[in-house]
Amino acid sequence: MSRCDVAVVGAGLAGLWTARLLAEAGARVTLLDQRRSVDQQIRTTGIFVRRTLEDFDLPAGCMGPGIRHVVLATPSGSALALESPRVEFRIAHMAALYRTLLDRALTAGVIWRPGVGCRSLRHEGGLQLLRLGGAREASLAARFVIGADGARSRVASMLGLSHNREWIVGVEDIYRGLPLSGPPSLHCVLSPRFAPGYLAWCVNDGREVHIGVGGYAGRFEPLASLEAFRASLQVPWDWEQETRVERRGGWIPVGGILPNIASPAGLLVGDAAGAVSPLTAGGLDPCLRLSELAARVTVNYLDGGGTAALADYDGTRFRRRFRNRLLLRRLLAGIPAPLLSRATAASLDSAIFGALARKVFFGRGSFPEVPRWDPGIRLVSRAPALPDVA
Ligand SMILES: Cc1cc2nc3c(=O)[nH]c(=O)nc-3n(C[C@H](O)[C@H](O)[C@H](O)COP(=O)(O)OP(=O)(O)OC[C@H]3O[C@@H](n4cnc5c(N)ncnc54)[C@H](O)[C@@H]3O)c2cc1C
Repeated sequence: MSRCDVAVVGAGLAGLWTARLLAEAGARVTLLDQRRSVDQQIRTTGIFVRRTLEDFDLPAGCMGPGIRHVVLATPSGSALALESPRVEFRIAHMAALYRTLLDRALTAGVIWRPGVGCRSLRHEGGLQLLRLGGAREASLAARFVIGADGARSRVASMLGLSHNREWIVGVEDIYRGLPLSGPPSLHCVLSPRFAPGYLAWCVNDGREVHIGVGGYAGRFEPLASLEAFRASLQVPWDWEQETRVERRGGWIPVGGILPNIASPAGLLVGDAAGAVSPLTAGGLDPCLRLSELAARVTVNYLDGGGTAALADYDGTRFRRRFRNRLLLRRLLAGIPAPLLSRATAASLDSAIFGALARKVFFGRGSFPEVPRWDPGIRLVSRAPALPDVA
């Protein structure tokens, strides 16, 4: 059985980011994912907001052109066009981004175990023993475990931490080779029929078109809604004849960051920690911010900071920031669909709606500011060589 300082379960954005930082700090990190490759089964559109683009070193070659235009429309045809003088979004080529981040992690010394799932976890002799599925070795011993295993995290339960209870489901198709005109843009449709509780979208990322719907799982059938939404779009081409290159989809936690996200055995990052904006369902910026804090806290904890170090990683502290957004989400979710449709159509061109939309789409508020990673951080207690245990 191999041993490591930190086992990171899940190689989405949160796991890749956290694993690399910890390895750069000198920790022996094993990163495992049940997927065989990081560029398979992608679950995100990949829209990165200005705040993330400004604050994080994302590989420029993986990011699409700048987007300044947003259209917010209703199914009845009313529309609000928003334009920003600045680049507000870029859509990443997610497969390339995940591959590049994995390369960075490997360069930092991360041990990568693709096609390996974490089945269970138990505590023994001061170590966490992970039972593995799909691997030659049946188990892995780690001083600390990081659950980066997404919206339906099983590691959360294995660590006895909080877990997500409120989700929406998103699904999208990506088309390549369409005769695109106009600048890259986000076109969002507020349709309780196609997307109850969220949005339908048609996004021109400068290279490809993403058509998607999201909504409360119990209130719609995502694939049928996606089909109906696509058919409702007035476009000069026949979808049947066009090349669909990918279908993406998954669960999105919208109940706000979870209260209890750290224990002496491990902690949660990304969707597993519920770190997603309840209103916009954006989780990429929170992934990066929380991962940096998680890496910092992990180093402090392993270097003898004890439970005091973990106190810095307390979801209840961040939940306050999510309160208004959660309230608004629940309010909108509670309004009957026909009433919501009429109210949206009537208020779309009001000044107050326009101001709110600009704040939501172009504002810098998503995840609270947390202490950023410092590249000088080093793990002092790293064992010179961790011998394998029998
Ligand atoms: C359709 C859709 C579109 C979205 N679009 C956007 C967007 O444009 N912008 C935005 O900001 N947010 C968006 N989001 C949300 C955002 O994508 C997520 O918040 C973010 O990607 C979560 O990253 P993560 O690393 O926490 O989880 P994930 O990317 O889900 O990664 C979790 C990983 O854990 C692995 N795993 C799970 N269980 C185990 C196990 N037991 N053992 C080993 N490995 C395991 C999985 O295989 C997976 O690779 C979207 C979400 C969806 C569903």
